[in-house]
Amino acid sequence: MARIHLLPDILISQIAAGEVVERPASALKELLENSLDAGSTSIQVQLVQGGIKRISVSDDGSGIEHDDLALALSRHATSKIASLDDLERVASLGFRGEALASIASIARVSLTSRAQTSLHGWRVETTADDSRQPAPAARAVGTSVDVEDLYFNTPARRKFLKTESTEFGHCEEVFRRLALSRPEIGFALTHNGRQISQLPAVHDNADARVTAMLGKEFYAQSVAIHAAAGGLQLTGLAAMPTYHRSGRDAQYLFVNGRYVRDKLLSHAVRQAYQDVLHHDRHPAYVLFLSLDPALVDVNVHPAKTEVRFRDGQGIHRFVFHGLEKALARPRSISVEPVATATEFPAAEYSRWQSGAYQQGELQVAEPATFYQTLFSGIRESYARTDALQSAPLETLPELGFAVAQLSGIYILAQNKNGLVIVDMHAAHERVMYEQLKAATNGSALASQPLLIPVTFTADSLDVATASEQQEKLHDFGLDVGVLSPTALAVRSVPALLKDADAAELAKSVLAELREFGASQTLTERRNELLSTMACHGAVRANRQLTVPEMNALLRAMERIDRADQCNHGRPTWFQISIEELDRMFMRGR
Ligand code: ADP
Ligand code: MG
Repeated sequence: MARIHLLPDILISQIAAGEVVERPASALKELLENSLDAGSTSIQVQLVQGGIKRISVSDDGSGIEHDDLALALSRHATSKIASLDDLERVASLGFRGEALASIASIARVSLTSRAQTSLHGWRVETTADDSRQPAPAARAVGTSVDVEDLYFNTPARRKFLKTESTEFGHCEEVFRRLALSRPEIGFALTHNGRQISQLPAVHDNADARVTAMLGKEFYAQSVAIHAAAGGLQLTGLAAMPTYHRSGRDAQYLFVNGRYVRDKLLSHAVRQAYQDVLHHDRHPAYVLFLSLDPALVDVNVHPAKTEVRFRDGQGIHRFVFHGLEKALARPRSISVEPVATATEFPAAEYSRWQSGAYQQGELQVAEPATFYQTLFSGIRESYARTDALQSAPLETLPELGFAVAQLSGIYILAQNKNGLVIVDMHAAHERVMYEQLKAATNGSALASQPLLIPVTFTADSLDVATASEQQEKLHDFGLDVGVLSPTALAVRSVPALLKDADAAELAKSVLAELREFGASQTLTERRNELLSTMACHGAVRANRQLTVPEMNALLRAMERIDRADQCNHGRPTWFQISIEELDRMFMRGR
């Protein structure tokens, strides 16, 4: 066995870089965070070839003293904390002192900076020589970092890089998050010399930045959130349920100014929307939670997008209630308009009244052939509407026979106990889900090519995900081709879902894949994804079903386990017994 020895510093950095610099976008994130920590008011980002060839970030922040320049590129060198005490209440975005060193170990880095007190700037380069002696350079107060040829010396990692447009998509998302978090700072972004984004600093109205990034439509349909309690503060904008999305792409959560992905927080938000949002749609929001830094641990992962709260339950409750109140359903207004009106600004209130906030009807027209294929086979045996009358009570199937459809949503059926009420979308979704699960058992979903591919416009990250996750998409029976940097084409869909809205289906699946990322979690979350897909295949509200179709659905429900719960945990049917009905009508038997 080999003897134990210390690893060379460069190798240690390269190992750390694996965690910190997963792709160009992660390097960009670290550089931008450094610029924010330096108190910059204006930040310029230049990318070449999706950041693979070059990432350059230039700011007008505090700059770095001549004597500290070389140190900035060393591991565990930071100006942001000095003790454990500092770490426990860290307010800066960085604190680990390893980002620049990591990046410098896998790319050619040049760092140019001028501190307030210097007469000119200084530059250090990782490539020039090992001594890293700063050389004089011209520049105004502030710092520029140039990162070239990422992974040039680690070919194995370089292979993991995706196409230029994919990497650019990820960089753009990082840029968006940081720009959203700090409206008072001006940001600019160019890619291959082309200007992509120019965001002036906004001081009086923080919403202007959100509007610039998420669009006027989002802004017009969202409510301002202002909640505070016990040292916690929640601000930002949350879209009303009318502005729902097929994916989670417009969900931004910041904790003390840091973009985070946190299960606890997104769960609280999701729950606040639960009653007002159709369950296959996703809310859109930009929310800022502030709290005493000592109550949240940001040192959970080197990438620092995960956090841990000391009082998770309290935070959950606070976020949930803060949002729920703001999103309260219009129904409560019609009951007590005066009481509720006081909680809303007059303009908001009239929008409520005019019905602008009513949850939209789900108008998805499904071709009749869909039902024919789905219900064929079962249809024959129960096609006759008089089956109910002629069947003896004991021989009735468990869920009985349909007698009517109510308000385009419910199926009323009669079984031997009395009345059965079925939520047809929820029930059908459950059936589709089980069918999909059975069909993917151990293999890819059978897919069916579309005669005419369905094209749709997509944002850069969805385009990126589509090209990156071709294989996974195939597993789920989807073939999504990239037409242009902003357009995708669905060429095949799962045979089981061949009549669903192909574009909406693809968008949802892409959104989920994007959220799961490249990680192995996909296997664990396979069922979650199938459940999303099932929703797209399921019959929508306001579609008239014929009696045979309703009966076919009842029969299909009986064949699957746990048909009483839809995939989202909602019930699919209820029984009201004759005895209960009798009691309601005070009918002594
Ligand atoms: P960290 O941000 O965790 O301290 P980094 O490796 O990212 O570690 O940066 C090391 C140090 O370099 C920082 O602590 C800071 O002092 C200095 N630095 C890096 N970028 C900038 C910048 N844009 N402006 C001013 N100082 C910077
Ligand atoms: Mg840093």
